[in-house]
Amino acid sequence: MAFCRMCNAELKRDLNWSQSNYLGPHYVCNKCMSAWGANHRLLIRQRAIAVLGGKCAICGEPKPDFLTFGHLKHDGVRWRLAHNASAQTASTWIAKHPARAKGVFQLECFNCNYSKEYRNTNADYHAVPRYIDGKVNPEYQKRLNVYWRNIFFDHYGAKCSCCGDADITHLTVGHPNSDGLAHRRLEKAGGARLYRKISRNGYRAQFEIEVQCWNCNCGSLRTNGTCPHKP
Ligand SMILES: [Zn+2]
Ligand SMILES: [Zn+2]
Ligand SMILES: [Zn+2]
Ligand SMILES: [Zn+2]
Repeated sequence: MAFCRMCNAELKRDLNWSQSNYLGPHYVCNKCMSAWGANHRLLIRQRAIAVLGGKCAICGEPKPDFLTFGHLKHDGVRWRLAHNASAQTASTWIAKHPARAKGVFQLECFNCNYSKEYRNTNADYHAVPRYIDGKVNPEYQKRLNVYWRNIFFDHYGAKCSCCGDADITHLTVGHPNSDGLAHRRLEKAGGARLYRKISRNGYRAQFEIEVQCWNCNCGSLRTNGTCPHKP
């Protein structure tokens, strides 16, 4: 008979433990293993956040739940491919290579991270060519996105329902019933395309939505649905 070294539960192979749950010189049960993993990832993340200065490099936001790792050279996709990485492995890499990390990443809150895309873009999409060499002009697409964002948030009110942030480049659509994925699947659209569809549909969305800033929206994902702003 064997017992979990962390909680002392009796271990029954394939029922509550497996060969891979080897931690230290003994095995641990599945429940303790996943708790250990979550805690380990949190510690790595905290170390990576400390390496990069502990607050948003753009606005100074210090709440860890609002922070993400922004790529200084706007080449996040290339970095992830080169390092075969997910968002989680970015923190592992930063914690392991503190000196190099400072030239590649900076801490950004979700609001600053997302608003970089739109901050200096005006909505006059007619002023630039739609196609260049047969391909859609990225500048045209960006301006068109801003155009529909503006119309959408004019209607719903350009203000975060949680913290009151009124910077339109910080805003997104929140789903209070946590059915955002189902909504985007139904409309086959997210982001600006979703704003356009809802606006063209006379502002009748099939799902309950509310205006949120990216910090409140993404921060709640880290804290089981309640915004880190709330006590
Ligand atoms: Zn256990
Ligand atoms: Zn910020
Ligand atoms: Zn907010
Ligand atoms: Zn909030």
